[in-house]
Amino acid sequence: MPPFADILKDKLLRAGASAAGFAPLREVAPEVMEAYSAWISEGRHGGMEYLANHLAIRRNPALLLGGGEDPRPGGTVISAAFPYFSADPYRPRRLRIARYALGDDYHEVLRRRLKPIAEWITAETGKEARVCVDTAPILERYWAREAGIGFIGRNRQLIIPGRGPCFLLAEIVTRAELPPDTPCRLTCGECDACVRGCPGHALTPDGFDSRRCHSYLTIEHRGELPADFTPRRGWLYGCDLCIEACPHHRTATPPPPLPEFTPRESLLDLAEDEVRNLTPTTFASLLRHSPIKRAKLAGLLRNIDRLISDTTAGE
Ligand code: SF4
Ligand code: SF4
Repeated sequence: MPPFADILKDKLLRAGASAAGFAPLREVAPEVMEAYSAWISEGRHGGMEYLANHLAIRRNPALLLGGGEDPRPGGTVISAAFPYFSADPYRPRRLRIARYALGDDYHEVLRRRLKPIAEWITAETGKEARVCVDTAPILERYWAREAGIGFIGRNRQLIIPGRGPCFLLAEIVTRAELPPDTPCRLTCGECDACVRGCPGHALTPDGFDSRRCHSYLTIEHRGELPADFTPRRGWLYGCDLCIEACPHHRTATPPPPLPEFTPRESLLDLAEDEVRNLTPTTFASLLRHSPIKRAKLAGLLRNIDRLISDTTAGE
């Protein structure tokens, strides 16, 4: 019988993960938390106030367990990376939507795939195990790096060597003790292709300012777009330019995406007029189980107004 950790990794791969690893459940390295707190106090998270909340849990994800009352270290952060569509799917004279958002909502997909595994861990070990899919306050790229899955690029993506940056991360935080993997210590080196390719100058060699990022502005930002925001041609929701610029993306051999992340024809074919004519009913029907609902109808209409006469993507 293979060891428990091997069976668990096999289950994660069978659940669709391209890579999975284990990191000891303990406090985040002080310099990482310091940098994160400084980023927040400089206001670089823009209007994403949720990023400024629950700093104690971000520092110590053990607080996610036991009703948040037990800060002891001990246990494991299990990190897993699931592939989304990575090739260029865009069509001439159609709007562009970030690749990760062309299929089903990853929150639902990954939780559905990981929940049975968390339950199995608890059944086998008697230890609590909690699934986190971008909803709990946890530094997921940090934990993926600590679990040996890949490194954090200047484009803010978790990059898996040889496979690229088109992965969505999820975690299982558990009191079960598992043998830790070796953290990934690769870096971007001297490359700065994404910094040069970033249209909003949101990226710098050692930082990121959400307030200048097209992705943040078209997805997360509420209210009017800043006056100096220059929309990219055709990008209605998000922006993949720092992914497209990355040599790790251009030379990767990525695994096929999860079936749920196959781009929807209705989104690949989305045209400016169609968005303008959306009603609450057609919005809900077009975006059923899609992460794009996050921007709300008002957000899409605001975005399209700024893209007016400029929806020439692919030309
Ligand atoms: S998503 Fe676009 S605007 Fe944001 S950092 Fe990447 S390239 Fe820059
Ligand atoms: S483009 Fe270069 S600097 Fe940016 S994430 Fe990729 S390797 Fe790193």
